[in-house]
Amino acid sequence: MEKIITHSQIKQAVEDAYAECRNITGGKNANYIPFLANVDSNLFGLSVTLNDGTTFNVGDTEYKFGVESISKVLTAILVLKQKGAEAVLKQIGADATGLPFNSIFAILLENDHPSTPLVNAGAITACSMVEPKGDSWGKWEAIINNFTDLCGSESQVLDELYRSESETNFNNRSIAWLLKNYNRIYDDVDMSLDLYTRQCSVGVTSSQLAACAATIANGGVNPITKKEVFAKELAPKITTLISSVGFYQNTGDWLYTSGIPAKSGVGGGVLGVFPGVMGIAAFAPPLDEAGNSVKAQAAVKAVMKKLDLGVFNGDNITVKAD
Ligand code: GLN
Repeated sequence: MEKIITHSQIKQAVEDAYAECRNITGGKNANYIPFLANVDSNLFGLSVTLNDGTTFNVGDTEYKFGVESISKVLTAILVLKQKGAEAVLKQIGADATGLPFNSIFAILLENDHPSTPLVNAGAITACSMVEPKGDSWGKWEAIINNFTDLCGSESQVLDELYRSESETNFNNRSIAWLLKNYNRIYDDVDMSLDLYTRQCSVGVTSSQLAACAATIANGGVNPITKKEVFAKELAPKITTLISSVGFYQNTGDWLYTSGIPAKSGVGGGVLGVFPGVMGIAAFAPPLDEAGNSVKAQAAVKAVMKKLDLGVFNGDNITVKAD
């Protein structure tokens, strides 16, 4: 069906979704990373960036929160760019685990296959694949410059968060060494783990994440800076990965009920990609039991519902300025 939506309808939907969700309670800040336990639980931001660059922000959309697992999407794009789609499939994989993001069991089950760059195991493997090999500083520059390109503005590591994660990441250390045992770390193990921890500790705003999501939705061209960040043919690869595992063991339920592929982080962020139309990002710290933000999920779903949108609805969508 042909479907036309206007900028003012989208703006209204974002404002209404925000108002509807702002009093939602439930969930708890992540507490296994001490820094995250102390972030103000009442923060809430909702941002939409359309494929023409128009952006709608409501709430705490300039607050810098820990990007956490959403960083996995950005670095997966970098590795897709540097190594190609085939190498990512062979050296990491593109399968859902159906298990929590930090599952060691998933690695044992898969034996020598970390499954997907969007769980901890595959993301540590992805960091090990980033070029230039063996050069920790050069690799970090590649990772953070890619963040800047995708988000359209710079972001920095939140030092206190980085320290907090580094001091408590025992499970991730086990994952990294188990992957090494299966020959799935392609550079120095400690360096790869440290790059992963550092990228999770980058502070981003929901407004930046909406721009990043819109860059994916727009086939690799950042709609705000107009820079071509990655080749168009990589866009469906990254959207497929997000669709299959963005909410870990809850991904199927999420896709079924929301209609939009999205990726979460334990900092409280959610990044959703509507190919050809828009990127959406929400942020609120309290999480459900799978580590996905309660309020951010509700807000993204509410925007989709108010606009009667869904990537599987079969609509041919045109977005118009009024
Ligand atoms: N840094 C976190 C971890 O490795 C990221 C997890 C997440 O956001 N789901 O546990």
